Amino acid sequence: MQKCSHCQQKFTLGQVFKSFWCNYKTILCANCKTQYNHTTKNKTLGGISAALGVIFGSLAWALIELDKSTKIVILLVVTILFTLLFSVFSSYFFTFERVDVKNHA
Ligand SMILES: [Zn+2]
Repeated sequence: MQKCSHCQQKFTLGQVFKSFWCNYKTILCANCKTQYNHTTKNKTLGGISAALGVIFGSLAWALIELDKSTKIVILLVVTILFTLLFSVFSSYFFTFERVDVKNHA
């Protein structure tokens, strides 16, 4: 996980994960309150995680032979589960860029 470039405080997985699920919300360093934005790379990784979740959901749909209503539940559960799983995994590769407050006025 990336460290704060100002105070070397490490971002936690929970912090990164929560920010990701809040539509790539700006991360605040827990120690010095420096703000960080998600990079384009994170958004790409997030998109891939969701795509993989959908692919696994479709696979479950194709492979499981049950009645349609049960399959819909399985499809949803598998898609959500795998999207979460892949997004936790990709959170480890997320990078952030510091928001320069001075140039932001
Ligand atoms: Zn900091």
